[in-house]
Amino acid sequence: MANKFKSLSPRKALVVGAGFGGLAISLRLRRLGYDVSVYDNNPKAGGRAQVYELGEYKFDAGPTVITAPFLFDELFALFGKKREEYIEFLPVEPWYRFQFSDGSILNYGGQLEDTITEINRMSPGEGEGYKRLVGFSQKIFKVGFEKLADQPFHRFGTMMKQVPALLALKSYLSVYSLVSSYLKDDRLRRAFSIHPLLVGGNPMQTTSIYCLIHYLERKWGVWFPKGGTGALVEALVKLMEETGVELRLNQQVSKLMVENKKACGVRLKSGEEIRADLVVFDADPPKVYRDLIDANHRSKWSDSRLDRLSFSMGLFVWYFGTTRAYPEVEHHTIIMGEAFRNLLEDIYKRKILSDDLSLYLHRPAATDPSMAPKNGDAFYVLAPVPNKLAEIDWQEAGERIRLQVQTQLENTLLPGLSNCLDVSHFVTPDDFEGKFNTLWGSGFSIAPLFRQSAWFRFHNRSEDLENLYFCGAGTHPGAGVPGVVSSAKVVEKMVPPSRFGDEGEFQKIFRSKSRTFSLASFLLPKERAEAIFQLYYVCRTLDDWADEGEGEKLKEAMQCWKNHQPHSLLDHYRFLQARWGLASLPLTELMETMIKELDGVRIETEAELIQYCHGVAGTIGLMTCPIFGVTNPSAMRHADDLGIAMQLTNICRDVWEDAENNRIYLPADFFDNPPNISGVLTGLPASVEEISKVKTRLLNLADERYASGEDGIRHLPWRMRIVVRWAGRMYREIGELIKDDPSFYYSNRAIVPSRKKMGILLPCIFQAFIS
Ligand SMILES: Cc1cc2nc3c(=O)[nH]c(=O)nc-3n(C[C@H](O)[C@H](O)[C@H](O)COP(=O)(O)OP(=O)(O)OC[C@H]3O[C@@H](n4cnc5c(N)ncnc54)[C@H](O)[C@@H]3O)c2cc1C
Repeated sequence: MANKFKSLSPRKALVVGAGFGGLAISLRLRRLGYDVSVYDNNPKAGGRAQVYELGEYKFDAGPTVITAPFLFDELFALFGKKREEYIEFLPVEPWYRFQFSDGSILNYGGQLEDTITEINRMSPGEGEGYKRLVGFSQKIFKVGFEKLADQPFHRFGTMMKQVPALLALKSYLSVYSLVSSYLKDDRLRRAFSIHPLLVGGNPMQTTSIYCLIHYLERKWGVWFPKGGTGALVEALVKLMEETGVELRLNQQVSKLMVENKKACGVRLKSGEEIRADLVVFDADPPKVYRDLIDANHRSKWSDSRLDRLSFSMGLFVWYFGTTRAYPEVEHHTIIMGEAFRNLLEDIYKRKILSDDLSLYLHRPAATDPSMAPKNGDAFYVLAPVPNKLAEIDWQEAGERIRLQVQTQLENTLLPGLSNCLDVSHFVTPDDFEGKFNTLWGSGFSIAPLFRQSAWFRFHNRSEDLENLYFCGAGTHPGAGVPGVVSSAKVVEKMVPPSRFGDEGEFQKIFRSKSRTFSLASFLLPKERAEAIFQLYYVCRTLDDWADEGEGEKLKEAMQCWKNHQPHSLLDHYRFLQARWGLASLPLTELMETMIKELDGVRIETEAELIQYCHGVAGTIGLMTCPIFGVTNPSAMRHADDLGIAMQLTNICRDVWEDAENNRIYLPADFFDNPPNISGVLTGLPASVEEISKVKTRLLNLADERYASGEDGIRHLPWRMRIVVRWAGRMYREIGELIKDDPSFYYSNRAIVPSRKKMGILLPCIFQAFIS
């Protein structure tokens, strides 16, 4: 009998902030089936990646260095699209040029050997040290990026588990100290310590975990979107439009609405109230907690706690166009001032403006000539400055700093600049506070210190209120484009399913339909058991549709799945994918196999049969693996085999019942005279004998796969070993019953008695501790 499938309406998600984090989470939530709306106070999407247009010039306001481009590919792939069809990434070469105050230059980028040659040219013999630095940053990368960047850090236990690895990686050192232990030349030490500045930190204080950026650049290179970062934002907005995400710009959110300790929507400055089932802020968390959430709703993030946080630096950015081109200037140039340490102290400690600035100069036309008008050039120059905790009057200081920067550039890289300036616009920490709603006008939210990272950073799920989530620069893993795009992956793993559903009902269905697995599920940790109930609900519903003449529903589900459209049943699977990492292919194969079965089945060959068993059961093994924490491909093969073995057993058990449903799974080429439906159902002695022989042959085939399944059990955590071994052995026992008395079990269903089940369980428990 079919389970009661309810077509559940989608939950409504409201995202505040259309920065890269907000764009990424809105797409991820949409893919899960949420009804998503994004609100941003700015006139364009992109957050800090706004585009400013001055005359015929277009300036990317913020990020210009794209690393880890695969993070964008993933967003398009969520909907079966290819990123290249929306936006092209151009390689940048060199990645950066460092220009030192003594006039020396270092080009950084290309192959490892290129950088080593450059380093040896500047400081003979130091290339080896750099090589070792890259080697160590690879180790940091493997933990800091590969293992932790997209994992939730809301549990202290998660943090504690990582402490030994973090200590082994010398996370207690600052980036500068770590780099200095590999390089001696002061210019090299400074150059290879600048990465924290890209995410708002002081290299002298930022945890050395951020050295992972070295390897991130090495692994994937440095890229620039053709048409500018703004074109990348537009590509994402286009994808949002195509997939049904609503984007509302020029909308300032002024309050988070709360009911019963749960976020339930937002109020706009205009007074409009929008209700939602969950709210995700891609905005500066300290600002959100302090200004948008009433103090009585905050127990963890009280004002006094927020006051104790350390904030990232402020930014002065000057955008300007010139009537002449500067082709000799590279795409990214870092102009190092004379006293680097002094500058950092001015910014972070003394909180004063320095007269010896270090600058980052952006000249996008070096990579993409379309970024500047013909015969002209377009630049932005960025200077790290104190944030608004400093007593600086930016109304007065802004133009003064701009002139200081102009002179510095004119004397170094851009001779004759003042004579060819065409357009000019600058922003200061005042603008970051006013335009981007950041507390203290910081450029990158809170600073990336160890005591403000991972569990210590703003959690992606609010500690204070239910249904409230955060992504973006102030949250784990941190600022920078790869960080904020990864933060969306973290949030995606924590949100509830997009469809309202009664988790109790999934469990009820599971327990009533599958007694064997139901018993086994008591051994699973709660979270994993719930995931299994939900997976069972999805697969069982599809199976019921296939069995009970509702093939149209099955076909419609397949259509939605292939077209990446929301679907009230399959969205549950998408939820499991996000939370547990289930692959898409097993579900595709499962549905394809079920659809093939709709018009009756006649299996011809063993290969066809195995393919079928893989389609309906091996796939379930593959779906279950990640829920049990297994992702290793060789272990997955054993899970597939176990599923196939169980299905072969099912086939041998249900020959009669299947024939009643116009299905014969016994391969025709196993028979001298393949039986037809009436031949199976008539049960003449000769055909019973031949069918029994074929069943025995199939059960022997199943035994080989059970053996492989048992072999794979060692990959599982111990509790799961009990469950899986028990389930496998109980199925195998069904096969034994059939082999022992084939004629009795020709039309009778083989069932393992309860006592026997318990007898099978005990050795499974003992064995779980051994293998
Ligand atoms: C000048 C500059 C250069 C940078 N260069 C690079 C680089 O080259 N590479 C790199 O990887 N990173 C770089 N970064 C860092 C990177 O740009 C940011 O960390 C990242 O883009 C931040 O994204 P986000 O998702 O946190 O959101 P943000 O970009 O901060 O966007 C959040 C949006 O939410 C809006 N918002 C906030 N509060 C509200 C509210 N109450 N109501 C409505 N809307 C609200 C804001 O106005 C904003 O539009 C740079 C940053 C800057 C400023």
